Amino acid sequence: MPQASELRLAVLAGDGVGPEITAATIDILESAAARAGLTPRLEALPIGWKAYKKSKSTLPEETLAALRGHTGWILGPTFAGEYPKDDPIKGHPSGYLRRNFGLFANVRPVKAWPQLEPLIPDLDVTVIRENTEGFYPDRNLAWGYGEFLPTPDVALSLRVITGSACDRFARFVLEYATALGHASVVVLHKRTALPQTEGIFIGAFDRLKKEFPKLEVELVRIDTFSSALPREHHRFRLVATTNLFGDIASDQASGLAGGVAVAPSLNAGIKQAMAQAVHGTAADIAGKNLANPTALALSTAMLLRWFDQKTRNKRYRMTAGLIEHGIKGAMTAGVSTHDLGGRASTSAFTKAVIKSIEEAPASALR
Ligand code: ATP
Repeated sequence: MPQASELRLAVLAGDGVGPEITAATIDILESAAARAGLTPRLEALPIGWKAYKKSKSTLPEETLAALRGHTGWILGPTFAGEYPKDDPIKGHPSGYLRRNFGLFANVRPVKAWPQLEPLIPDLDVTVIRENTEGFYPDRNLAWGYGEFLPTPDVALSLRVITGSACDRFARFVLEYATALGHASVVVLHKRTALPQTEGIFIGAFDRLKKEFPKLEVELVRIDTFSSALPREHHRFRLVATTNLFGDIASDQASGLAGGVAVAPSLNAGIKQAMAQAVHGTAADIAGKNLANPTALALSTAMLLRWFDQKTRNKRYRMTAGLIEHGIKGAMTAGVSTHDLGGRASTSAFTKAVIKSIEEAPASALR
């Protein structure tokens, strides 16, 4: 964990719009940290195409070794689809990082922004998704892939769910709910169709809930959730689910809240955490100074709140609050990027966020 007055983070810029939004995020972070009395010590590490061109790996050993010494880092988007076949990572670098650093919980808060004319103006739901198992061929076997084609007409997808991964995930969720003052957690499942694997997942919550007597744990089928969310969203403040269901549920919520370009996420383990925007590389606008850095900046604020939970150092919390304040301030002042119907470039939006941070009243420094 960083020292009281310093903020030690690694930064992995990624592909596509990654370098632009990480640079903007760093500028925003540095301005907020300065106001909160934190000194950032940032270490840039190679990843993605740039790393492959230099060392034939999208996640070189030097990056992995350096990350072992970090408590937290910021990851820009990476795009596995375009990497060469001889890349030793063989898949998505972000999946590799989640699995190899035990970042087993993916927290995706979805809040409607009035500036985005959301379908549900008061939507406020956080989806916590198990991050290391499930129907993902790049992460559900010790070696190789979990999708098979025995004949051209027959394809098999394997899903791995283990009791140990479900136990650590359920504990994370219940502790997270308690730390943030939630009264209940909704566990999304499909036990009717997948009784064994979903049974293990639900069983972990059943076993642990007696340690958290103040929390209500409710089971809801994922299909029921999907149809109920638009009309009964107040029932679903904090939901927890398996990997693929969580991916879909959080994107559904993002769509109702105004879009994925502003959706943040945190990948957390026991000792380390990684800030990562929900969106991808946005290759269509890469290098044009058009990308919106909001999702990555808000993900970084989540990482700082996680640091605060671990250390109770209020400067992390203050820096996070200032980042959130700055983004709201820029949007309220009518400055937004093209994806949100505005005219601001990445750099103009970043400048407006920083102005709002610098002008933030003392009450924002809580
Ligand atoms: P990938 O395959 O890398 O996940 P994708 O194209 O499937 O990428 P995104 O990269 O998330 O998915 O892009 C979807 C759309 O949203 C694109 O039109 C893109 O330009 C837009 N978009 C995504 N992120 C941003 C951003 N930060 N700022 C502006 N537009 C964005």
